[in-house]
Amino acid sequence: MDCLFCKIVEGTIPSNKVLENDHVIVFHDIHPAAPTHVLIIPKKHISSMNEITTEDLPLIGEIHSAALEAAKRLGVQESGYRLINNCGRDGEQTVHHLHYHLLGGTRLGALTSLSDSHR
Ligand code: 5GP
Ligand code: ZN
Repeated sequence: MDCLFCKIVEGTIPSNKVLENDHVIVFHDIHPAAPTHVLIIPKKHISSMNEITTEDLPLIGEIHSAALEAAKRLGVQESGYRLINNCGRDGEQTVHHLHYHLLGGTRLGALTSLSDSHR
């Protein structure tokens, strides 16, 4: 399958990993949008949040658990962070393999600032 993140899972495209287990990997985003910016992805190819099925629900728990472990390892657990999934066109999803952004290391601004764009 021609999927960038599947290639990162396989290792044919290199990544700077924070952690890896049987189900998920966490690696640094190539274009960080904050001092801490990592991506949490399942090893299983799931195109987007829309394609998550009930059989995938334990995997979503694994993703949260890995996100928390990554936040600890990267030293942002206490200061706080944001976990984001971009889905589909309006979500500006660009890589069609389920992933969650973990951002931290600075004050990220309130989500309400987004509301200005559709007033
Ligand atoms: P999306 O916009 O789909 O939510 O997020 C995709 C993310 O993948 C972007 O933040 C982008 O910087 C990151 N990305 C794209 N290509 C690569 C790559 O080859 N390696 C890494 N580590 N991140 C990538
Ligand atoms: Zn994939």
